[in-house]
Amino acid sequence: MERKVALITGGSRGIGAATALLAAARGWDLVISYARQGSAAQAVVQQVQALGAQCLAVQADVGDEAQILQLFAAADRHFGRLDALVNNAGVVDTGQTVAEYSLQRLERMFRINAIGPFLCAREAVLRMSTARGGRGGAIVNVSSIASRLGAPRQYVDYAAAKGAMDVMTLGLAKEVAAEGIRVNAVRPGLIDTDIHASGGQPDRVQRLAPNVPMQRGGTPEEVADAIVWLMSDGSHYTTGSLIEISGGNL
Ligand code: NAP
Repeated sequence: MERKVALITGGSRGIGAATALLAAARGWDLVISYARQGSAAQAVVQQVQALGAQCLAVQADVGDEAQILQLFAAADRHFGRLDALVNNAGVVDTGQTVAEYSLQRLERMFRINAIGPFLCAREAVLRMSTARGGRGGAIVNVSSIASRLGAPRQYVDYAAAKGAMDVMTLGLAKEVAAEGIRVNAVRPGLIDTDIHASGGQPDRVQRLAPNVPMQRGGTPEEVADAIVWLMSDGSHYTTGSLIEISGGNL
């Protein structure tokens, strides 16, 4: 059987890395991107290869259109096909109220978490659309439960950027449904990764876990399960859906 190729932005750590490993175990070849930590990306490449899959790691900031174009061009050169895009790369910022935001903070937040995913989706559609000679495919957006909750006094800007991603999921799904492309999103809750430390709250999962109905944080692997299902043919009649993976925190 032909092997399919998925491109996972931010596939070097956290949810993206867990998705890469599960997808590799299910028979996907992979392109993973990262922003800075090449050593983490190389570690994922080795683990994916140990599972018998091919993996290309590319340094590309999703906040920069030129680097996104280089990422997709590298995927084209290496594999010559694209069957799934996981718009996973994302950042938080330190906890602030809206009254404290700078323009610089807002521009970074929306460039990486909203505009970058739109540009990646554009590049994926250009390659996958059956109306453009492609084979069809799947796009999975990694949003956040924050887009339902608003993240007050933490990062309302992050929640709003994820809200943009949710609406992109709904609209793009309808735009390309007849072109063989499905577009869905996952909305993870409190997941145990390094992202919380990057926002200055290393104990965030431990601190907030008692407020989650299931009374624990989730693992990156628990989110990867849903992402890989949405990438795969097992979800063939699902498009425009937003799936909460949040232990009941809604
Ligand atoms: P993480 O552990 O901090 O990993 C982030 C990944 O994205 C890394 O591979 C990182 O690469 C990459 N990345 C960061 N900025 C990038 C940029 N500008 N361009 C390209 N790649 C970039 O984060 P995570 O918790 O796995 O989060 C993954 C996604 O899930 C994000 O979209 C996040 O918003 C979403 N999410 C997470 C949670 C949670 O509780 N963890 C909850 C809801 C939603 P480098 O290492 O090279 O920087």
